[in-house]
Amino acid sequence: MLMKAMPMKAESSSGQAQLKRANRMALIRQLRVQPGQSRVDLAHALNLTKSTVSALARELIDEGWLLEREVLITGDVGRRPTPLFVDPTRMLLLGAQVGIGHVRVVLTSLTGEVLSASSATYDTDREVDVCILALTRTLLDTTEALGETQRIIGIGLGLPGGVDQAHNQLVFAPHLDWHHVPFGALLQAALRGTPLSGVAIFMQNDADVAALGETEFNPSPMADPLLLVLVGEGVGAGLVVGGRLLTGARGLAGEVGHMVLQIDGPLCSCGRRGCAEALIGSRALMQQGEQAPTPAAVAKAGRYLGVLLQNLAAAYDPACIVLGGAAVALGDALLAPVRETLQQYAQAAGLSEPALRVSRFGDDAIAVGAAALAGYRLTQPTLG
Ligand SMILES: [Zn+2]
Repeated sequence: MLMKAMPMKAESSSGQAQLKRANRMALIRQLRVQPGQSRVDLAHALNLTKSTVSALARELIDEGWLLEREVLITGDVGRRPTPLFVDPTRMLLLGAQVGIGHVRVVLTSLTGEVLSASSATYDTDREVDVCILALTRTLLDTTEALGETQRIIGIGLGLPGGVDQAHNQLVFAPHLDWHHVPFGALLQAALRGTPLSGVAIFMQNDADVAALGETEFNPSPMADPLLLVLVGEGVGAGLVVGGRLLTGARGLAGEVGHMVLQIDGPLCSCGRRGCAEALIGSRALMQQGEQAPTPAAVAKAGRYLGVLLQNLAAAYDPACIVLGGAAVALGDALLAPVRETLQQYAQAAGLSEPALRVSRFGDDAIAVGAAALAGYRLTQPTLG
């Protein structure tokens, strides 16, 4: 379960509204983890009275968060309790990947089904405004065909750099040379006067949202801690521990692309030598003007990626490592040497290697993860 539901007792009348909101969100989160529970199941799981659950469920059904399915009438057993589900049709999320020169937007249900998607490019030599403009158009394109009963309740953004949550800004995007950009506020201003005006916007680093996508939109019990490593032009990681993202004091945690793997190794975009990005990133794969990476280059990158994952596993002991990003499309040519390297290190120490899999959302790991970020923030019981 991602977020432990913690029903609280209200100490004062001012706490009542917050308590109610926390219990409403706990109900939604519980049904995301275990769909089909009845009101009695929920009361038991959340330590609430059945009448409280019934009242909250009624409100949440009326508002569009939940739905109830038909009960089965069986002869001997009689009427079974009505199963409740998160409604996948009425309240929707938008997730956007802001990449290097391109944006990708997905429209998803609260449970992570992708309903539509659209992409656009922008010129990386110009200011951030051209990216905001491309993103605004793509967000509006994606929501053009919404039905009358459908409503967008949040927009999530996966950005290619560190995000400072406290100051609500993108701190630094290395490949774009953007510094201290209030990205969410700029987008909010650009959306003013459109059908998406006033919709809540949430932003986070791209690897972080991809990690959240794996844990939020996953109906099976999650692996905790979950470590996601994105390999594309850059290399980044997101870590979810106990249902929370580990983002660091300034939002810069997970910049594992600049962990040094080789002393005096190849020059990295950051100015240092031997960083993971310089050995694994797409620029390391595409050498000497080749059109496609050579098998030898891919195998070498795979071994270094194995070393990086081994180092990260030693630091965090993840229950599961998930790989995402463009490099995953290389398939076994990249993944086989990664697995071999991990196995060798594990065997040498008499341990079993960490569980490794590829992101369930493929190329859309960041965009879907961004939608998951919006859902996560909106249903966080601790928010006032
Ligand atoms: Zn570097």
